[in-house]
Amino acid sequence: MAYQLVKKLRDLTPYDPISGEYDIRLDANESYFELSKDMLEKIQAEIANIPFNRYPDPTCKVLAEKYANAYQINPELVTAGNGSDELISVICGSFLENGNKILVLTPEFSMYKFYGDIAGCETISIAKDENLAINVSEVCEFLKNNKIDMVIFSNPCNPTSVGLDKNGVREIIKASDALVILDEAYMDFWNQSLLSEVEQYDNLMILKTSSKAIGLAGVRLGFSIANKRLTTALKAAKSPYNMNSITQKIGEIIYSNPQELKDNTATIIAATQSLHKEMAKLVAKSTKIEKLYETSTNFLFMKTNFADEIFEKLKEKSIVIRNFKKYLRITCGSPQENAKLLEEIAKII
Ligand SMILES: *Cc1c(COP(=O)(O)O)cnc(C)c1O
Repeated sequence: MAYQLVKKLRDLTPYDPISGEYDIRLDANESYFELSKDMLEKIQAEIANIPFNRYPDPTCKVLAEKYANAYQINPELVTAGNGSDELISVICGSFLENGNKILVLTPEFSMYKFYGDIAGCETISIAKDENLAINVSEVCEFLKNNKIDMVIFSNPCNPTSVGLDKNGVREIIKASDALVILDEAYMDFWNQSLLSEVEQYDNLMILKTSSKAIGLAGVRLGFSIANKRLTTALKAAKSPYNMNSITQKIGEIIYSNPQELKDNTATIIAATQSLHKEMAKLVAKSTKIEKLYETSTNFLFMKTNFADEIFEKLKEKSIVIRNFKKYLRITCGSPQENAKLLEEIAKII
């Protein structure tokens, strides 16, 4: 007799991002900005004053206030998480029951199905159209005719870089009484956020992260914004001390300075658009890349039958991007990094 893992665990393997040392990392959609010296000094000084023998504030009151102020929303609607990944996990584990049905719109962020599986739920997919846009009427029709418990999608989407405008999102929310998890991880790079109207819906939770535009991927800090009823349920379901004192303090400092965040974000948007323009020129001359999609994010997404080749040749030059086999995803880097990337891609394609 030996201990048997439960079925849902048997085929799982730990998350394995690209490891190793590379000169240019364009694989994880992080911000290319490092924290300013001023911010780093403030953080160091404040961390020295944290009472480390005491538990952190389980409600993240000050952090929620700073965050809400930066985004002009009500702090009572904010729940902080140890990355928005943690919030997805808590939501799937507590707002769903064994056997519930989750709707995703593929291609989509892979973690939704992952956490859904662990929660014992069935994930149903509807494919996006050939431009990787969400077919809103098809999705709404499906929701009206099938019992779905939760719809989850990223907008703008990772990995496709394509966004759905507010009206399309509103239609999906109103199509059924399923819980809608709207992952706005990249919405800092676009202008179609539903944050300001979150209280108008009884079935909407919006997720945000500090890992992309805000430049804090290493800190692990995400947020849920939802009406009071859903927020109370989420706060009750999460582990009480999920947010450590250091993360809370860093978040308080960073979100106290929204202008710096907006300036950095605007710079990244301009850099991404310029990278997109240059890449489009290369793609137009190449037979190896079928299509470059529009982007409302800080990355590019391309369709190609030569994904492995392009990926491996860039890696030989110490540049890593993300390989989805039929597609490639490339994070916008600094202007120097983008120039080097374009130079190497031009040689390959
Ligand atoms: C990066 C990303 C997240 C995860 O963010 P963390 O806060 O770092 O956990 C969530 N959703 C999407 C779509 C992402 O791309």
